[in-house]
Amino acid sequence: MNYDVLVVGAGFAGCTLAQKFAEFGKKVLIIDKRAHIGGNMYEEKRANNVNVHKYGPHIFHTNYEEVFNYLKKFTGFYFYEHRVIGYIDGKYVPIPFNFKSLELLFEEKKSLEIKNKLLNVYKNMDKVSILELLNSDDEVIKKFGEYVYDKVFVHYTAKQWNIPIEEVDKSVINRVPVILGYDDRYFQDKYQFMPKNGYNEIFNNMLNNKNITIKLNTDSKEVINIDIEKKNILVYGEKFDGKVIYTGPLDELLNYKYGPLPYRSLNLVFEDRLENYYQPMSVVNYPNDNKFTRITEFKYLSNQIVKNNTTILKEYPLTYDYMNKEHVPYYAIFNERNLNLYNKYCYCLKDISNFYLCGRLAEYKYYNMDAVIKRALDLFEEIKGEK
Ligand code: FAD
Ligand code: UDP
Repeated sequence: MNYDVLVVGAGFAGCTLAQKFAEFGKKVLIIDKRAHIGGNMYEEKRANNVNVHKYGPHIFHTNYEEVFNYLKKFTGFYFYEHRVIGYIDGKYVPIPFNFKSLELLFEEKKSLEIKNKLLNVYKNMDKVSILELLNSDDEVIKKFGEYVYDKVFVHYTAKQWNIPIEEVDKSVINRVPVILGYDDRYFQDKYQFMPKNGYNEIFNNMLNNKNITIKLNTDSKEVINIDIEKKNILVYGEKFDGKVIYTGPLDELLNYKYGPLPYRSLNLVFEDRLENYYQPMSVVNYPNDNKFTRITEFKYLSNQIVKNNTTILKEYPLTYDYMNKEHVPYYAIFNERNLNLYNKYCYCLKDISNFYLCGRLAEYKYYNMDAVIKRALDLFEEIKGEK
């Protein structure tokens, strides 16, 4: 094989590493089993001309200046702060739950009492974890915590994860805080922007390098064979001494020999509608009895103007079945058992020194886009000089 580096998967993990190695003068082959690059950030145009994110809504936000500066090489950005409302007891209220949500759902005297308590107990803090409120010694705060837990978290989480909320990893629940004020942004990061011409342009520009060859509709199964006994990687049947970067699921790579790694998946249902707008903002969460978790209306994310037409997306969570070719493994499910299984797969590969794992699937992590790019940039620095 006339390449120095083989990258499996053309999402942000794979494309960042491919781009960095190509810039470093290495010949890179990047493959993806899908018919397009861009991983889960891929966008497509519907018949009504509305641009949508095919694999669910993707909003860029980061505290890593390095990541933002890196992406700026491949696209222009426009300022976009994401706001979400939740449909609770027949009212639309800001999510994360903030003082405005409180005022909308509690009568004036009670909401004033809770606000004062929160400001007193959590002095100098902008936000607090719902789990901390639940454990408060203060009766008013604890009761308020139980209310928010029930109205915002319990039902949404039951739908999303299909296990009791107590069994969901705390880091997942803590992604959505309770805001101690009127900040109504979904994310609190320093940099909040969307790519001016969409995500596809970023990926096209990242891979636009004479040192990079792209092969689509190509599953790594057809290309790589790992000989664990001999500690070798065969690429197209020949021993390969270059670097192999793998960003797909590990269980699949190793033929599920210890059993499948559990994931949650989504049934993404798009609806094209003959109206200018369907809902008041880009995302409305449904932390209640509806079977979907949220509805996204894409025109708000892109600022696209398409008269009398709009497209919405309803996300219906479902259990991932690795045998079902329609299913996408979206969310790793953290618990001790699953992490042990993941580590067992990693252990098999520990002696193969030119094989690297990167990304949401390969590392079995709940990475946001920026965290994946950061991890890929760090990995590149770690391994670029290795023989
Ligand atoms: P992916 O984007 O999944 O790319 C992996 C690629 O590898 C895929 O193209 C796949 O086809 C390919 N592949 C897999 N196996 C093989 C194989 N055997 N052979 C060949 N190719 C293979 N993050 C944010 O920052 N903001 C958001 O708003 C946001 N929204 C999200 C919404 C949803 C519904 C989900 C599920 C995630 C969201 N994320 C968001 C997270 C974001 O999608 C991930 O951080 C990002 O996709 C990770 O990039 P990746 O390259 O690791 O994986
Ligand atoms: N969550 C919730 N209610 C909401 C929003 C989020 O209970 O209205 C919980 C739920 O468990 C979810 C987690 O917080 O899985 C993380 O939410 P986030 O919006 O970050 O999920 P993502 O956008 O990654 O799907």
